[in-house]
Amino acid sequence: MNNKSYRFKVGVFECIVVSDGTFAYPHPAQIFFANAPQERLEQVLREHSLDPEQWEEYVSPYPSLVIDTGQHRVLVDTGAGGMAPTTGKLIPNLQAEGIAPEDIDTVILTHGHPDHIGGNLDSEGKPAFPNARYVMWKEGWEFWTSEPDLAQMKVDEQIRQLLLTFARNNLPPIQGQLDLVDQETEIVPGIRTIPAAGHTPGHMAVAISSGDEQLLLIADAALHPIHLEQPDWYSVFDLAPEQVLVSKRRLVERATAEKALVQAFHFPFPGLGHIIPKGEAWQWQPIETAG
Ligand SMILES: [Zn+2]
Repeated sequence: MNNKSYRFKVGVFECIVVSDGTFAYPHPAQIFFANAPQERLEQVLREHSLDPEQWEEYVSPYPSLVIDTGQHRVLVDTGAGGMAPTTGKLIPNLQAEGIAPEDIDTVILTHGHPDHIGGNLDSEGKPAFPNARYVMWKEGWEFWTSEPDLAQMKVDEQIRQLLLTFARNNLPPIQGQLDLVDQETEIVPGIRTIPAAGHTPGHMAVAISSGDEQLLLIADAALHPIHLEQPDWYSVFDLAPEQVLVSKRRLVERATAEKALVQAFHFPFPGLGHIIPKGEAWQWQPIETAG
């Protein structure tokens, strides 16, 4: 497997996880597990063969998902665009799979963070997917287009400014092609948006269903597999931590009840796997990828 794309099927739907690149998060233990008790955190990291003193960065993939239903070509999230030299590869990686930006008729944006909306526009500032309607959760759109106060986030001011700049630059120009949803909605036959707020206001998951197969895309409801083993741990990026924990539990219960395949944006590429109940919590079981 290369780390640029991964093809699979959900029923008769042809799906491709397509990479926009990667980004190295410094101090991952503090960033991803903001409320973890120190001693327990160190123990859990060691169980994952991570040295708490030496774990200096987490290199996260930034994968978008293309779903070709036969009638529609849907893209979920647009990557980080020019956020870093290691990002902004979505369009060439789509083209390598034979998909032109014009072929996409629906773009679903799970939430307004830079790594999910950064590729909304082309180099001229026009929508990068000219024939698509863009879909976003109403509350998320309203939040990110209203110069939100991010003071409660325990991150550097530089990161707060990055979030605000990306929202300011990448959201208003798509307004002419935008549909907002405020409840579970079938966007095209077989693809539904599901409310999963907490990580940000209006953060959403996407349920994909064809025949008797299901894929549940949980976006950023969990950022690392350890968030499944430790259901009470959350990250510094989670704007409403208590709500994240509720949304995560609801999504996981849905996935385990339906034995759905799951896609998690920040998990190791391609982020596909199953969630297995384990004790009081769960465990991530990535799919086997050849090569
Ligand atoms: Zn993200």
